[in-house]
Amino acid sequence: MEGRKAFGWAARDTSGILSPYSFNLRKTGSEDVVLKVLYCGVDHTDLHQMRNEIHNTNYPLVPGHEVVGEVVELGSEVKKFRVGDLVGVGGIVGSCGECLSCQSNMEQYCHNKIVTYNDTNKDGSPTRGGFSSAMVVHQRFVVRIPEKLALDQAAPLLCAGVTAYSPLKQFMGSNKVLKAGILGLGGVGHLGVSSDKKREEALEILGADAFLVSSNAAEMEGAANSVDYILDTVPALHPLRLYLSLLKVDGKLIIVAAVPKPLQLDAVDIILGKRTITGSLIGSMEETREILEFWADKGLKSFIETVKMDYLNEAFERMERNDVRFRFVLDVAGSDLE
Ligand SMILES: [Zn+2]
Ligand SMILES: [Zn+2]
Repeated sequence: MEGRKAFGWAARDTSGILSPYSFNLRKTGSEDVVLKVLYCGVDHTDLHQMRNEIHNTNYPLVPGHEVVGEVVELGSEVKKFRVGDLVGVGGIVGSCGECLSCQSNMEQYCHNKIVTYNDTNKDGSPTRGGFSSAMVVHQRFVVRIPEKLALDQAAPLLCAGVTAYSPLKQFMGSNKVLKAGILGLGGVGHLGVSSDKKREEALEILGADAFLVSSNAAEMEGAANSVDYILDTVPALHPLRLYLSLLKVDGKLIIVAAVPKPLQLDAVDIILGKRTITGSLIGSMEETREILEFWADKGLKSFIETVKMDYLNEAFERMERNDVRFRFVLDVAGSDLE
């Protein structure tokens, strides 16, 4: 049995072009929250998936995994939300609930996790993301948006924000003064606080202490062995050697962006300096709640440009040209969807 009708935009083929698409939501289960989508962040991963660059896309594909919405219906067992609550959904909408990852608040590493779109719900229906008027999501994967946070501001925190926060959290609360580097100043990178036109933005707008242009050899050499960890947010092929050289002894390169082609590693670059390359996938639901609270408490701002659904194809083109400071957020409720 199917649920209510939803109106979204979908990619139909590897051109990745989005166009209007309507479908039925899955039936509301006892633990489900139905939300009317208000805003949705626009992420580089969406583009990879729309064009099948990760080679697993099922069409039609309704992307969007930084979803802010209003609760419009609740399953009979849901006690922690009320109709009218403002809530968020990030990159995952399901997991087994039983494995070690699920039981230790790391559900993003569950081998049976269900991602927000281009995956399959437990009832066999395809998952569809937030470029759509409504979604049905299990309550475990729904978070409350703090009152102090503007709704469009909250959207990028649900994937990009928690992706930067989760790996860096392990370094917080340390007494040592640590030097961190952010590689790539796009959607994820700007929330974690690299061409010359971005220098001014990094230093003045984002509050970074220093800015390196990776193509400037003298600048890179001057910074060699100086950084404790680097958050690598670059979603395209890039030379690891250059960045590993910046790390101190025992330094860490933390990769958070999928790259369509294999990265190359020269073993010497990690042997010398006892360096570590590690990965990190989004963050847990607990960490998602933490970053929303953190952002609200500190009064921090994400730098966003809000656009309507009919501007999406152009927004993705601009994202590819690096022509956005720093993230598009889709005003779904303000778009004409039907
Ligand atoms: Zn699990
Ligand atoms: Zn994302």
